[in-house]
Amino acid sequence: MKTLGVKRGDRVATLAWNNYRHLEAYFAIPLLGAVLHTVNLRLSSEHLRYIINHAEDRILLVDEELLPLLDPIWDNLPTVQHLIILGEHLNLAKSPKNPMTSVSAYEDLLAQASPMVDYDPDLPEDSLLGMCYTSATTGNPKGVVYSHRGIALHSLAMGLANTSAIAENDTVMPVVPMFHVNAWGIPFSAIWFGANIVLPGPAPTPEDLVRLMSEEQVSVAAGVPTVWLGVAKVLEKAATPLSLRMVLCGGSAAPPALIRTFEKTFKVPLAHAYGMTETSPLATFSRLKSTLSGLTEDDQLAIRSTQGILVPGLSMRLRRDNEDVPWDGKSMGELWFKGPWVADEYYHDPRTEDSFEDGWLKTGDVATISPEGYVRLVDRTKDLVKSGGEWISSVDLENTIMAHPDVFEAAVVGVPHPKWDERPLAFVVPKENRQIRKEDIIALLSADFPKWWLPDDVIFLQEIPKTSVGKFMKRALRVQYQEYLTDPQR
Ligand code: AMP
Repeated sequence: MKTLGVKRGDRVATLAWNNYRHLEAYFAIPLLGAVLHTVNLRLSSEHLRYIINHAEDRILLVDEELLPLLDPIWDNLPTVQHLIILGEHLNLAKSPKNPMTSVSAYEDLLAQASPMVDYDPDLPEDSLLGMCYTSATTGNPKGVVYSHRGIALHSLAMGLANTSAIAENDTVMPVVPMFHVNAWGIPFSAIWFGANIVLPGPAPTPEDLVRLMSEEQVSVAAGVPTVWLGVAKVLEKAATPLSLRMVLCGGSAAPPALIRTFEKTFKVPLAHAYGMTETSPLATFSRLKSTLSGLTEDDQLAIRSTQGILVPGLSMRLRRDNEDVPWDGKSMGELWFKGPWVADEYYHDPRTEDSFEDGWLKTGDVATISPEGYVRLVDRTKDLVKSGGEWISSVDLENTIMAHPDVFEAAVVGVPHPKWDERPLAFVVPKENRQIRKEDIIALLSADFPKWWLPDDVIFLQEIPKTSVGKFMKRALRVQYQEYLTDPQR
């Protein structure tokens, strides 16, 4: 890349799955003083075009099989000067036709290059290391930038004994994609600490993941709850010996039933953590404090199912109507964070004003915080159901439904209602060959929640729609069912 003229501060984009060439780029680009822009390969062509242009990427490193994603936009990428295909040799038949761009194969370039010793040692610690665009509710994705200092400190935080404690003797497998928040920073911390790393490649199935974890003796694996729901299904069918010391689960709420299944049935601790693209992502981590070890098993599970306590190095506030909300485990407010690995702006974007205040990130997540400091996410601001002006937590309802032994996955969303503005609808996917009735779900919820929290209907689906990183795409359900309760024909 140096011979191609890449300089300090240049943006170099990757469009790649979790593979070793991508990992090499994770280090090569920042060590040159350039900025690693990981592009989400599941974005629409329009958003791909927008973010590559907005970041003004000079070089693109692209997995060979992903080249077709760029076909519709080649004519609209004026800043891109060079394409490096992440493969063995140049396959001209497959390379794009954009005349502005010179093309090489990664391994060809590497074979011609000599080992580099003079990388940029005087780089100031607050220089940009990388960037990742995060989807906005409306409009184009927003750019989040990461500094060398922030990522170095975040990497250390991933090694703390009371977080994931990644260490030299671990074999770590990020299932979370390397195009999403740097695969939760795992490549940086695992390599720094000298751990082995296992990269599962393109779109692994739950069966692939179980096989890899077993063959490679993975000790820490990290992914969103839907990944672990799929893995649990495979392990329930065929018990497989695993060497896992921890499954790290975050990105959306880990249902308590999932934690229980991993720990009771598979004897694997499942640790719940919370964060977002803007927090690099590690912000809170759920571990039981030693002072709480006398609690009953159920009470311990309830605490470990929360999003956890603040990771050392960051500051946290709970805010509502311009005031701090007490940490009493009941009062709800918006979570705010500040710290070395928390963004304090969006890259060249006027929407910075809506989400940051005095260096604090306003997350848009509504939570309570207990006197012990445990954060319990109630909902994203936009996912809360507002019935007759009162808040209903879709996450709480989902967790209870997912504890039903015949339920595979469930989502609750608010849809317009003529009298109450919004009412909850539940969407449920039963486990294979299991039958559940609406009455069973309502009876289950009635035991835990007041009557006005109960969903107006329960709709059975084959699958809950997912976002590009495997989270429930509640927006799709909201749009599809927006007239469900207002339709006079119903
Ligand atoms: P992203 O920036 O795409 O990774 O999304 C971040 C958002 O995912 C957060 O603002 C939360 O709403 C949600 N999220 C992340 N981790 C968790 C978790 N452990 N429990 C519930 N929601 C989560």
